[in-house]
Amino acid sequence: MERKRAIEAIKTAGIVGAGGGGFPTFIKMQSQVETIICNGSECEPLLATDKAILYQNADRVIDGIKVAMKATGAKEGIIAIKGHYQNVIKKVEAALAGIYDIHIHQLENYYPAGDEFLTVYDVTKKLIPEGGLPLDVGVVVCNALTLSQISDAIAGKVVTNRVVTINGEIEKPQVLKAPIGASYRQLISACGGTTIDNYTVLDGGPMMGSIVEDIDRGIAKTTSGILVLPNDHFVVNMKTKSITQMVKLSKAACCQCFRCTDLCPRNLLGHDIYPHRTMRTIDYNLADPTEHITSAFLCSQCGVCEMVACDSMLLSPKKIYAEYRKTLVAQGVKSPHRKNNFSVRDAFEDRKISIPTIMKKMGLAKYTLPELVVKDFYSDRVSIPTNRHIGKPAKATVTIGDQVKIGDMIALSADGGLGSVYHASIIGEITDCDQSFIEITA
Ligand code: SF4
Ligand code: SF4
Repeated sequence: MERKRAIEAIKTAGIVGAGGGGFPTFIKMQSQVETIICNGSECEPLLATDKAILYQNADRVIDGIKVAMKATGAKEGIIAIKGHYQNVIKKVEAALAGIYDIHIHQLENYYPAGDEFLTVYDVTKKLIPEGGLPLDVGVVVCNALTLSQISDAIAGKVVTNRVVTINGEIEKPQVLKAPIGASYRQLISACGGTTIDNYTVLDGGPMMGSIVEDIDRGIAKTTSGILVLPNDHFVVNMKTKSITQMVKLSKAACCQCFRCTDLCPRNLLGHDIYPHRTMRTIDYNLADPTEHITSAFLCSQCGVCEMVACDSMLLSPKKIYAEYRKTLVAQGVKSPHRKNNFSVRDAFEDRKISIPTIMKKMGLAKYTLPELVVKDFYSDRVSIPTNRHIGKPAKATVTIGDQVKIGDMIALSADGGLGSVYHASIIGEITDCDQSFIEITA
């Protein structure tokens, strides 16, 4: 398929970064680059979504890479997978037989190997500038599921379902392929329910995932995992602390030990982000932002400082940065950080944190990965979130009472620039609808 039609098919299919970012994929495909990297590193502990896709459907991912290479003019495709998963690598190697412009790059088993800045450095030894994109160094990075959706789009299929790992305090942890908008509760029940009564559900992994306030709402195009943890689990405690609590605690308890800076993956890459200094300046006036406050624009929200580094004081530079960033954006402050000539810090290699260390520190060592088999799940009611992509919000193109079939368009962002289209994931009637979701009942 020629380039223009491929990009149009990807846009029409409503593909957004399935790894969690939600960046509209057709925009990435409009660039001209040398390399496409398939991000199959999936470094969030306890998630097996990308691994299962690569294990079961490597052919489709490879097809997606070929389309992405054609669209962007890339000469090579690289599949980044952790060397730890040799069973997955063997399947991908078999699928690559006779293909010479796509190969595998084995990553170490550390967190956050899947952060685009780190993946690109690991694979190409190129450093993305501060505040930049992989595109700045001639690379486009796409998640494994996103690439298999690209392959589907070329065959005329739009995004109506997604693969998701259900793990933690679950009777039978599994990887399911579910209609977008299936509820967290339905998916947990499909895995035999929970093993405990008092639990909290996360959308995503333990490091970057967020608490699900209402488990009867539906999963999004960006939901890579559903993690169930006890209410009193360390991860839940850290994630439920309010920003007000965290600011108070930080002012009182930060001992300036530097560990958050020492272990910050973006600092180790050479960026000017120093979380311990930011913690020292948290009561500064935002109207006059210092570089330690605007460095919020450099934070990837990876969670290393919160979940691993500050294990004695239990503070969260991550949360402070998220709040600062929100405030700075609302004030119209632009990131002044644009450094593009730097090298990784000397300690870069030594300070990589292995996944087993993270699991132990976070109290997750008792949980294991589910089998790498994707099972189908059907639902008779979905509540499709229409605001979980980057860009212009999508507006409903249907109203309550309309009848829809699988694949019918139900919401659309205004044309031009970033945005996405949404499609019905089951056949039925529109039974509820607002600015953030559309409910369909079979
Ligand atoms: S690790 Fe914690 S206590 Fe140490 S400087 Fe960072 S925020 Fe402060
Ligand atoms: S979340 Fe913490 S460790 Fe991660 S990039 Fe931000 S400051 Fe650094």
